[in-house]
Amino acid sequence: MENYGIVIHGGAGAIQKEKMTPGKEFSYNEALTNGIAIGNEILKNGGSALEAVEKTVVFLEDCPLFNAGRGSVFSHEGKHEMDAAIMCGKQLSAGAVTNITNIKNPIALAHKVQEDGQYVMLSGRGASEFAKSNKMRFMPDAYFYTEQRFAQVQKAIKSDMNPDLDHNLNVEAVNKFGTVGAVALDQKGNLAAATSTGGLTNKKYGRIGDSAIIGAGTYANNETCAISCTGYGEYFMRGVVAYDISCLIEYKNLSLEEACELVINKKQADLGGRGGLIAIDAKGNIALPYSTEGMYRAWQLKDQEKQIKIWS
Ligand code: ASP
Repeated sequence: MENYGIVIHGGAGAIQKEKMTPGKEFSYNEALTNGIAIGNEILKNGGSALEAVEKTVVFLEDCPLFNAGRGSVFSHEGKHEMDAAIMCGKQLSAGAVTNITNIKNPIALAHKVQEDGQYVMLSGRGASEFAKSNKMRFMPDAYFYTEQRFAQVQKAIKSDMNPDLDHNLNVEAVNKFGTVGAVALDQKGNLAAATSTGGLTNKKYGRIGDSAIIGAGTYANNETCAISCTGYGEYFMRGVVAYDISCLIEYKNLSLEEACELVINKKQADLGGRGGLIAIDAKGNIALPYSTEGMYRAWQLKDQEKQIKIWS
């Protein structure tokens, strides 16, 4: 049986160990454990990397703990404006949706866009029309309401914290990260990446982050690697992070680990960006660098025990 593996994340940020209760830690560990099991099962049975990342991210979107799908943060206007993207490393085909509301599973919609193939990225109203014509599931606003996210946006509004305007701000303190993502290698040697997010708490003006931007927050290429990012999206977009890592492998022959380290801990750090990413290459090498206090993450490779981690 050929090599295969899956890596997932549930966001990077100021995850303070002292503030983590045993109950909360248990819930995150459980969600990551169940998430990784979904993808691993698909890969073990010979399923595609694309299916594995989609189904895993759907599960994480349905879990209110994460800032994606059901647990998405509130925008300044009190909405849940979600972004998601998926990419297939075999054909370099991709689908992305931005600024979408009331769609139960944004990653499933992004996958439909990828399968449809006419366009790569759909936004807002048009994406909703596409979702309706493809019979995607819509949910009322109440489905996306979580007390914790509501309290977060109230706090952000009260202190008028707007990371778009104040670059000196401790964005991690304001923006509760929790984006989700998955990258996988299947038994046929194909790579895929998927990322889904509610974006930044208190975001305004239809702000779109890196998650749905192919090459910034999400990228997959069988010749190099599959990447899903999480962190302060403005920096990840400016650094074209996911594609940069792929290019360092393709043009400079860096290993996956070297490329990821350089981009997260040097290039992003120099730019002022903080966050993390998950990566896998066609040989089944993985990398999970982050520059924040913690990153919810898990991985499982063929014949190996699954690993679940929050801190280093
Ligand atoms: N990167 C996401 C964004 O900027 C946020 C996150 O990863 O938590 O929209």
